[in-house]
Amino acid sequence: MTGQYNPWLVVLSLLVAICVSYTALSLAARVAGLPPKYARWWQAGGAFAMGVGIWSMHFIGMLAFSLPIALSYDPITTLASLAVGIITSGFALGIASRARVTLQHLSMGAFIMGLGIAAMHYSGMAAIQVVPGISYEPLLLLASVVIAVGASFVALTLFCFLRSESNLRLFGYRLAAAIVMGCAIVGMHYTGMAAARFAPGSYCIGATDTNSHWLALLVGGFALGVLLITMILIFYHTHLDARARHAAALEDVNSRLQHMATHDPLTSLPNRVLLEDRLAQAIAHAERRTGRVAVLVMDLDRFKMINDSLGHHGGDQLLQEVARRLQATLRKSDTLTRTGGDEFVLIADEISSVADAEQVARSVISCFTQPFRILTVEIHTAPSIGIAMYPSDGSDGDELLKNADAAMYYAKKVGGNNFAVFAPSMNAYTLERLELENGLRRALASKEFVLHYQPKVDLVSGRIGSAEALIRWRHPQRGELLPAEFIPLAEEINLILQIGDWVLREACKQARQWQLAGQPVRIAVNMSAQQFRQKNIVEVVRAALVSANLEPRLLELELTESAVMYDAEGSAAILAQLSRLGVHISIDDFGTGYSSLNYLRRFPLDKLKIDRSFIKDMVANPEDAAIVTAIISLAHSLRLKVIAEGVETEQQLDALKSLGCDQYQGFVCSPAISSAAFAELLRTHNPQHFDPLATVSRLYVPMKPG
Ligand code: C2E
Ligand code: MG
Ligand code: MG
Repeated sequence: MTGQYNPWLVVLSLLVAICVSYTALSLAARVAGLPPKYARWWQAGGAFAMGVGIWSMHFIGMLAFSLPIALSYDPITTLASLAVGIITSGFALGIASRARVTLQHLSMGAFIMGLGIAAMHYSGMAAIQVVPGISYEPLLLLASVVIAVGASFVALTLFCFLRSESNLRLFGYRLAAAIVMGCAIVGMHYTGMAAARFAPGSYCIGATDTNSHWLALLVGGFALGVLLITMILIFYHTHLDARARHAAALEDVNSRLQHMATHDPLTSLPNRVLLEDRLAQAIAHAERRTGRVAVLVMDLDRFKMINDSLGHHGGDQLLQEVARRLQATLRKSDTLTRTGGDEFVLIADEISSVADAEQVARSVISCFTQPFRILTVEIHTAPSIGIAMYPSDGSDGDELLKNADAAMYYAKKVGGNNFAVFAPSMNAYTLERLELENGLRRALASKEFVLHYQPKVDLVSGRIGSAEALIRWRHPQRGELLPAEFIPLAEEINLILQIGDWVLREACKQARQWQLAGQPVRIAVNMSAQQFRQKNIVEVVRAALVSANLEPRLLELELTESAVMYDAEGSAAILAQLSRLGVHISIDDFGTGYSSLNYLRRFPLDKLKIDRSFIKDMVANPEDAAIVTAIISLAHSLRLKVIAEGVETEQQLDALKSLGCDQYQGFVCSPAISSAAFAELLRTHNPQHFDPLATVSRLYVPMKPG
């Protein structure tokens, strides 16, 4: 008796086989990268889905086959064949998701899997309740088993090859592999069917004329449903996983940056940033239990001379050795920091009197009685130490450090290798500072400030898109002073708000002039922390824009990390208002302060400016290069632009370009120059008329004050 095939159902069985193969490939790729805890669950679920899939394919294949007589199936044997399918799939997935797969694994696996599939097929056939039983053509039967083993080998090899590339680009490869595998599975099935012989006059026990069409569609639909759900789960889980990995990578960059920002690379001691933080903590702690804190500032005597004679490398070694010795003598509760050069600062809390602090100073000095051996030379050095006590010598960290500093200078002046406890007489204002202060108070009125402008250049187009305004003080006696020489003083005597306001207005006016002259550039203004924290800062910025009639998008504010991180919640609100106004906001000197990624993400920022200290050595020092790379990718992942400052050489420029940095600023293009010189630079550098912001609306409705 010969049978016939329903072509539609044959196609359906092939479709199911391809879907099973595709799902299996995706599963193997998914399971391979997972920790065992998850992998086990995926493997179990995956085995079920694949088992149902392969079995359905076989079952549909059998339903596609019809004899002149009606067929019926024994439910128990049918279910048993399904179980064989699931177990075989679990085994196959187990092999395909092993970390390392050898040829031996593959051959053994293919052998067992092939037998499993054959077993499933023939037990499925055995479920047909035909009398007398089905007989098989031995050669074709053998061929079907060989095909099953061969197909399994190809399948497993493809699994193991493709699973490492979970890339979407591989969709095509994966689909092609799935089609090959699907055909192999179907081939095995129909060879097996061809081997079957039904004796003439056979009949089925208890056969009713069930509509095999609908049953096939039902089983096929169920199998495709299971496979679809599996695919959705795989996709969803992969997506979640990628997000978790991304977040972890960001956290890692953040913690590396934070360590670098808070520690001295030479000695690994905490640096000034961390010192200020710890000192504030120690003071808060002492305040609660009405205790005391001692701040000891120490500086090595004659270090400059030693450094000059030993060379840089020797000087570094000496500092490292000093740090080691100091750390060995101090108590666990003391905090030792290196704040720069040869200056170390020690915070000792859990101290009850000045006598205790003096004892600490003595033990520090005793560290230096033995000479240091550096590069086979014996070096004798000693510290000068200044001590300031909380609360008697200062109520906050700044004041304590300043007074301890004054005491240290005093100790040095009286001969060094010594310590001194702060006394108010040590801090008498020097005449020089007094004069500077008076000069600064007059400078605004007598128009002694000027702004210089430094170009910010687009790394891709090479064009100058913005200018940073940098203040200079034309001092009547001392000539041109740089900001470092007077901005800190201006902050201390509360002149910075007035100076900052002048800078803002002047810069806006200049930007407007350039725009009217047909050379629009965005103007960047530095804003000190005090200025940013003044109550009506949004109003101050708005007023400057209005009085210059400048569009907000042509103004950029540069804020340091510490300015925005101090009271981050409050900053977020102000930044949001500024950003709503339309001005751009960037973080200056990025990488040198504390910053919490959490907030960076939430602040409406436009740009991070990598501090020039990282750029300086990025070509020679792999660690700095790594940090620059990390900052750029961090910024881009937060959808921020990145600018590098302090770019002095072509090599640095090339390196930054290859890292995908967006802009740069530095002497390699130009230092800060007068407004006239800048206008000339624009004319030669950006020859054609060019509006870097042309994509934004040109229609500008002037803002109303308030
Ligand atoms: P900043 O905002 O980080 O400014 C960049 C500084 O780096 C400028 O120094 C600039 O002249 C310098 N610089 C630029 N290119 C290079 C280079 O290739 N190599 C090196 N080594 N240095 C380069 P400047 O003008 O002395 O300003 C120092 C700091 O003073 C500024 O740092 C900024 O924090 C502050 N500042 C300047 N103007 C103002 C102002 O109007 N208001 C406030 N609050 N602060 C200002
Ligand atoms: Mg700046
Ligand atoms: Mg900077």
